[in-house]
Amino acid sequence: MSASILDGKGLAATICEELIPRIDDFLRSGGRPPQLGILLVGDNPASEVYVRNKRRRAEELGLDVDLVHLPATASLDEAKLTINRFNESESHDGILVQVPIPLGWGSDASRELFEQIHPAKDVDSFHSINVGRLMQNRATLMPCTPSGIIELLLRSEIAIEGQHAVVLGRSEIVGRPLAMMLLHRHATVTICHSRTPNLASIAATADLLVVAVGRPVFVTHDFVKPGATVIDVGINRITDPDLVSTLIAADSVRWKAFKQRGSMLVGDVHPDVQKVAGALTPVPGGVGPLTVAMLMVNTVEAATARLLSNTS
Ligand code: NDP
Repeated sequence: MSASILDGKGLAATICEELIPRIDDFLRSGGRPPQLGILLVGDNPASEVYVRNKRRRAEELGLDVDLVHLPATASLDEAKLTINRFNESESHDGILVQVPIPLGWGSDASRELFEQIHPAKDVDSFHSINVGRLMQNRATLMPCTPSGIIELLLRSEIAIEGQHAVVLGRSEIVGRPLAMMLLHRHATVTICHSRTPNLASIAATADLLVVAVGRPVFVTHDFVKPGATVIDVGINRITDPDLVSTLIAADSVRWKAFKQRGSMLVGDVHPDVQKVAGALTPVPGGVGPLTVAMLMVNTVEAATARLLSNTS
């Protein structure tokens, strides 16, 4: 068996195209495009790439982007002032704080910043009000990565109701909200983490296996029930040529690119899973582009909801 590949990149393009009439409507009624405020702190290269991708996609769609890039030496108070400016602005509809933030700000700083964001502009949906609404299945804005995964499953006509979903990883950004969203869609959900014994045997009972552990090629074929759907959320940059040579053919295009760049992106799922799974998301080109697309959706949702509440 060879898994069918779930094309996240293509679906992300479709989702963004479908947004265009909604953006046009907003422009006509609101007299301006929806606007996303992004706060980026420091010079983490991966964060800079993520922000560049988000900004590029937003601008392609005609959204305004206000990117505030503070130096790594900035204080937490400066970051809060930026969020307050976005909160109070009439023309900022969505606010995103790119993580990670400087370690020196302390372990609670990212939560403090998320709590500072007005819940109606919280397009990443990490504010406790939005987290609570998600628990109660009455959220209007939902976190982008889990929403993208649900959208991919629905549009690929992969059953969720009645299926056993195993989610590897319990982060507040991916694992936990996704588990809740699968539960709301009537899956039977098992959440696993670093203290879960017998991980592979639990994973191998899943009809739907979602992997978000942040460990390169961690999930091998023995974690996967034949025919299961496997969603690989991980994005890991690897540089070890010995590891790379076990994953891709030596004369392939990807190998040549690796030799040139000295690094390669891989997911949390080993390529050998392709032989066992029924369907699989690739890395890159799977969940990553969907996350960006759902950020666009959330920004337009937030803008439209604000416009309606201002006019009602
Ligand atoms: P976190 O580091 O916040 O969480 C990782 C989770 O995996 C934790 O719950 C941890 O358990 C669990 N875990 C770690 N090691 C093991 C192990 N050996 N066995 C079982 N569980 C383990 O990561 P994120 O959720 O933020 O991200 C996960 C991956 O997804 C990363 O590669 C990240 O880059 C990627 N990502 C991709 C996105 C996309 O758009 N495609 C968006 C967001 C993230 P415990 O809680 O016990 O520590």
